[in-house]
Amino acid sequence: MKKILITGGAGFVGSHLCKRLLNEGNEVICLDNYFTGAKKNIVELLDHPYFEMVRHDITESYYAEVDEIYNLACPASPVHYQYNPIKTIKTSVLGAINVLGLAKRVKAKVLQASTSEVYGDPLVHPQPESYWGHVNPIGIRSCYDEGKRCAETLFMDYHNQNNVAIKIIRIFNTYGPNMNPVDGRVVSNFIVQALQGKDITIFGDGLQTRSFQYVDDLVEGMIRMMGSEASFLGPVNLGNPNEFTMLELAQAVIELTGSKSKIIHLALPQDDPKQRQPDISLAKEKLEGWEPKIQLREGLITTISYFDQLLLKQ
Ligand code: NAD
Ligand code: UDP
Repeated sequence: MKKILITGGAGFVGSHLCKRLLNEGNEVICLDNYFTGAKKNIVELLDHPYFEMVRHDITESYYAEVDEIYNLACPASPVHYQYNPIKTIKTSVLGAINVLGLAKRVKAKVLQASTSEVYGDPLVHPQPESYWGHVNPIGIRSCYDEGKRCAETLFMDYHNQNNVAIKIIRIFNTYGPNMNPVDGRVVSNFIVQALQGKDITIFGDGLQTRSFQYVDDLVEGMIRMMGSEASFLGPVNLGNPNEFTMLELAQAVIELTGSKSKIIHLALPQDDPKQRQPDISLAKEKLEGWEPKIQLREGLITTISYFDQLLLKQ
């Protein structure tokens, strides 16, 4: 049995990871300040004898004897990370320093949940890990993109300077149950709008693309990354290479929900990346042939059913 700390564990991805690691017989400490996460995501775990919930802000240091740390604490949707940009960058940078300091002290392995946003509005397509990115350092997305880039630097430097055992993953757009219905991400927005019969809001012409990964595939990749050979640090892309325009996504959601919602077009936010698709060759090679198993329609059906239940309860 390993003792595992998951920062941001009450969020969307973190709650799935907590559950999976508990089910595999580990002891899990979930640390979260509930900014975008929610107790309801982990409420079913609270009675588990090997689960512990700690309300804590990762910009402050935290101490616990653990074997592994998954660092997920950070608001992830543009609406939430732009709400208080200074706090967002503090969460990424001070949060990284705090988990790395803890890992150094207790000799834990530590995994950083980085993001495809480090590639910015990419000029190389699809994006391999060797691409350095095309990021605006002073735009409205910078607090997130640059915070995550600085966190990657800190992870590499703590490894090189202090020999901390690190792993870095770059997560591409991920969706599934436990997404926050009001955080403005495209999959949750479209599903909630379709289920409520409201207009589906496409930003811009809807021809921008994203590649959507179902959360279970991501969690499998994260666990394989943590368990990978010590010399493999990453960064490694984890995403589903199947790429869709936002128009295609909207049409799929309308069809699968049977909704009568209309599509409307709103202004495209500043610095919105035009295209995004992971090159996952490195993950396949280093993570025992890892690749996404759940394709968009199947994942959307499960996610729609989750939001359907959630909206019934409200
Ligand atoms: P989320 O917002 O659901 O989860 C983030 C969690 O971190 C929330 O529970 C929130 O309350 C917590 N948190 C935020 N600031 C904190 C702080 N200062 N101290 C303690 N807790 C704090 O988002 P998610 O989609 O689950 O993302 C998890 C991680 O994965 C994030 O680091 C995100 O950047 C990264 N990521 C996610 C995606 C995606 O598509 N879901 C893509 C790329 C990267
Ligand atoms: N988007 C949209 N309608 C919405 C929410 C988002 O058309 O209601 C677009 C957004 O402009 C972007 C894409 O969907 O081009 C993905 O947005 P999201 O915020 O989910 O993720 P990110 O931009 O961080 O990849």
